[in-house]
Amino acid sequence: DPRQDTDPVPARAQDRSAPGAGSEHLPLDEAFRNEPDTDVAVPANQAWAEDIAARITDRRWYEELPVPGPVDAPDVERLVATGRAAAEDWQGRGARERAEILNRAADVLAARRGHLLAVAGAEAGKTLGQSDPEVSEAVDFCRWYARRALELEAVDGARFVPDRLVLVTPPWNFPLAIPTGSTAAALAAGAAVLHKPAPEVRRCSTAVVEALWEAGVPRDVLQLVDSVEGEVGQALVSHPGVDRIVLTGAYETAQLFGSWRPGRPLTAETSGKNALVITPSADRDRAVWDLVTSAFGHAGQKCSAASLGILVGSVARSPRFRRQLLDAASSMVVDWPQNLQATVGPTIDEPGGKLRRALTRLDPGEEWLLEPRRLDDTGRLWRPGIKTGVAPGSFYHRTECFGPVLGLMEASDLYEALELQNAVDYGLTAGLHSLDPEEISTWVDLVEAGNLYVNRGITGAIVQRQPFGGWKRSSVGLGAKAGGPNYLVQLGSWQKAPFAQ
Ligand code: GLU
Repeated sequence: DPRQDTDPVPARAQDRSAPGAGSEHLPLDEAFRNEPDTDVAVPANQAWAEDIAARITDRRWYEELPVPGPVDAPDVERLVATGRAAAEDWQGRGARERAEILNRAADVLAARRGHLLAVAGAEAGKTLGQSDPEVSEAVDFCRWYARRALELEAVDGARFVPDRLVLVTPPWNFPLAIPTGSTAAALAAGAAVLHKPAPEVRRCSTAVVEALWEAGVPRDVLQLVDSVEGEVGQALVSHPGVDRIVLTGAYETAQLFGSWRPGRPLTAETSGKNALVITPSADRDRAVWDLVTSAFGHAGQKCSAASLGILVGSVARSPRFRRQLLDAASSMVVDWPQNLQATVGPTIDEPGGKLRRALTRLDPGEEWLLEPRRLDDTGRLWRPGIKTGVAPGSFYHRTECFGPVLGLMEASDLYEALELQNAVDYGLTAGLHSLDPEEISTWVDLVEAGNLYVNRGITGAIVQRQPFGGWKRSSVGLGAKAGGPNYLVQLGSWQKAPFAQ
């Protein structure tokens, strides 16, 4: 298989212990199933992980990874014209052919798992525990949207007319799954794509785009655009030939993009300020674990991360609970991804702005259960912080900081907890730990968020099973959730008349 020659890390050993597990080809007419993550208990997979760790430290290999070429102002016109022209052929091919190509892209990505993990470790600082599920999700997105594309053509009486050209601008925090998902969705719907990576993770995006090209997506249908800022970026975002922007990023970025293209389609998954509520009926051992992993996985750099723990009644007053939380957080291994034991990796850059403020003790009287601490000269490795006594309406209550810091708040009952949980501008993920069915149904009715998690962690949405998308300022122009049944329908319109350009 020629693919293996270009993959510097061999494919992982297969886990055959679970039914249907492994990176097998899933024919398009077979029902969707989720790609399994790597089973690290399989001894061959441990050796495989060590190879990846060695690759992450290999600077020479890293320097040779491809990155997109530079883009200047005149290139914008050419890129848009090329994409729009190529869309005609892509739409004309029909949904089945597009779906076959995307289904094949899933196989290419699955076969390159090791390479993708090495790139994400070296470029984005992702630990294997965090990046491995990203590859599974990328594979899932391709297979899922391929199948949904077939349904789009099956509707009678109206014809789905996809956007012609979509600009995809993914984030740096999920540098494999989100670039793949946003791109695969637009391609499945029938649009041509300009893929503009986040500047921090251009190599990850390149690896994803190359896999799609190799599967058969033509290069003019999917164009990789260097990460342009300033005037060129604005020219691209505001260009009338770009029918839609699919953005994952900060709410402020969505607002800026919106101001550059007033009234024109923008589909954005944006920020979060997510809380996990723990009531006295909860399984506290489980709740502690879910709170720290949701708060500090990938150093808290997830829109979905828990940045508040709201402790109800006796939980708030329990010294034992605090002790457990402290032990759990301080026993996390903070290190670079080449350390396979690391559970908290580096931040993407040396923290600035809101995150720097959140990690800095401003007032000697402040209470911390665990004070955040900078661990090395790069300024990117931080022992996570847990701040106690966060006051309603304060900075730690309402501001998304996007890093390894968790605030604790106290509530006398579930209703007060809900008030605190809902009193933020965002509504992306929300969690409850409670073993009381009445509490659970009250909470589910009243909480204002797109993704609700009961008695588990609040990150790690899964294609088909837990589609991902938010309310309030966590979403701009996004109706149906990513990885859900109706996502593609947003990338175009239903028309009765035949498509005429
Ligand atoms: N889908 C991811 C999750 O469920 C979060 C994506 C994001 O941070 O943008 O954890």
